[in-house]
Amino acid sequence: MIYKEVIERIYDSMLNQTGEGKVASYIPALSSIDPKSYAISVCDLEGGEFSIGDSDVRFTIQSISKVFVLAMVSRYLGDKLWERVGREPSGTAFNSLIQLEQERGIPRNPFINSGALVVTDMLIDLYPNPKQAILDFVREICGNRDICYNEEVAKSELEHSHRNLALANFMKSFGNIKNDIDTIIDIYCNQCSISMSTKELAKSFLFLANTGVNPINGQKVVGPRSSKRMNALMLTCGLYNESGDFAYRVGLPGKSGVGGGIAAIIPGRLAIAVWSPELNNNGNSYRGIATLEQFTTDIGISVF
Ligand code: GLU
Repeated sequence: MIYKEVIERIYDSMLNQTGEGKVASYIPALSSIDPKSYAISVCDLEGGEFSIGDSDVRFTIQSISKVFVLAMVSRYLGDKLWERVGREPSGTAFNSLIQLEQERGIPRNPFINSGALVVTDMLIDLYPNPKQAILDFVREICGNRDICYNEEVAKSELEHSHRNLALANFMKSFGNIKNDIDTIIDIYCNQCSISMSTKELAKSFLFLANTGVNPINGQKVVGPRSSKRMNALMLTCGLYNESGDFAYRVGLPGKSGVGGGIAAIIPGRLAIAVWSPELNNNGNSYRGIATLEQFTTDIGISVF
């Protein structure tokens, strides 16, 4: 793998770079994660793979699941999807209620919590057993049948999901939530609790580097137009109110989660996943961002 040396060097230089942020604790079950955990995995379209650090340890992917559920819905809905959710950066926190009032219950984009709740609401109408369908989808794209929900984390989030319940109820008052709210929140908390290692996560993002086709089995996950659009959304909205800075520093479409993971792609080349659970004030892994910034700087390749 041609990126091996670059990644080893970055890993060594950042291994002790901890203590500048905090592991998410608003979901109590996340607070017990070792803050020093660190892993990087890269997969390229030629089948090359390289991983370093805690790359076999599974962590909950949290908001990274929003990419998978969006892909599942966009397969069926196409442009109809955008009648209920926007595609502009929010400039607000991932769980913010502020814009929803002014914008009459239409979330800015599918990668903030309100947008993802609307997408999960759509998923319920499209798949008879949504929870199983999400697992099947993720298992298929990463080629690993034993990907599961972390029931402890899902339960912990469910017990502390007052803000997500508020978002869903608020949107329902504008008619932008159709299904039973408790059902939506249950599916949403479970999708966030999907546990994957960086090795699995990098593989699962390869289809987005390959115009929607999974290079592992040649299957079309989404069409080329959806793939292009999902990458554009990740670039503009994938890191909440830090998306502009991420584009500036890293220059790749990427998606973060409060579990400390970030997955990103270089179109036509590779997918990369980083895990480092300490978060900055925007809810993003600061060492994860620094790692990706160094990676695109050192290899001299980004989307720009
Ligand atoms: N499950 C988390 C929540 O809804 C996801 C947030 C994130 O990863 O940014 O609060």
